[in-house]
Amino acid sequence: VSFSDLLRVTPGTRPDLAAIDPRGTPGFDGDKAAAQARVDALRDELADFQERLWAEAGQSLLVVLQALDGGGKDGLIRKVISAFNPQGTRVNGFVVPTEEELRHDFLWRVHAAAPGKGRIGVFNRSHYEDVLVVRVKQLVPESVWQDRYRRINDFEALLAANSTRIVKFYLHISREEQRERFLKRLQDPKKGWKWDPADLETRAKWADYQAAYMDALELCSTDSAPWFVIPADHKWYRDLAVAEILAETARAMDPQWPEPEEDLSAIVVPD
Ligand code: ADP
Repeated sequence: VSFSDLLRVTPGTRPDLAAIDPRGTPGFDGDKAAAQARVDALRDELADFQERLWAEAGQSLLVVLQALDGGGKDGLIRKVISAFNPQGTRVNGFVVPTEEELRHDFLWRVHAAAPGKGRIGVFNRSHYEDVLVVRVKQLVPESVWQDRYRRINDFEALLAANSTRIVKFYLHISREEQRERFLKRLQDPKKGWKWDPADLETRAKWADYQAAYMDALELCSTDSAPWFVIPADHKWYRDLAVAEILAETARAMDPQWPEPEEDLSAIVVPD
């Protein structure tokens, strides 16, 4: 099976998040240990891909991560994205915009973080916050956020036309699983630092966020920048599905080792 085909939001269609089981494991019938073994193998493949991407220096990869609080973006970065050599990879977290960022258009800070040729960029949250939190909290008038979907599509098409492959993951967790993860943060001394009282306000607006996500998934899944909905209650399945889709993307990009400029066999290295 192709995980990309299974989990991609077909352009122009509206995914019904209520009908997608966050505990599901589409395309995989093994257990947690089997999934982890598979992720280990895929990590090797991703590492090899990253080296070829860097050497070729002709294309770039942009990975966009979105999820509700507790959705598992950080764990995914630690367990899958870390397969990429940090020398050629940059993870950007997008938080509440600064005053200066707010004096510019919403894509200004995002464009500056886009990966150049040979590089991998990972967005831990992204320009999609500008049609998610900004919409739900009514930080700008509706006419402003409504206009942003086409701006986002144009922006992503510009990156794609400049040899950037874009894959966007929505980590889909259930309300029950979010509660479990919040309780862990409150009880586990090693997780308490993650606790943010604002997360409860966001949780209270669960339905609003689901609706906002469905709009973003429907309006902004395109052939050149597809969205994938990843069932994410099982962390091992989340890691597996994302690793599989990244590997499928890597195979399609297929960066090539550059030909050396001179005939290496003729070169003598002196004693
Ligand atoms: P995370 O929850 O991703 O681990 P933080 O706890 O630092 O990271 O949260 C970042 C916060 O910044 C989130 O609450 C998010 O909604 C907010 N944020 C990100 N981008 C924007 C934006 N464009 N406008 C308003 N808030 C934003």
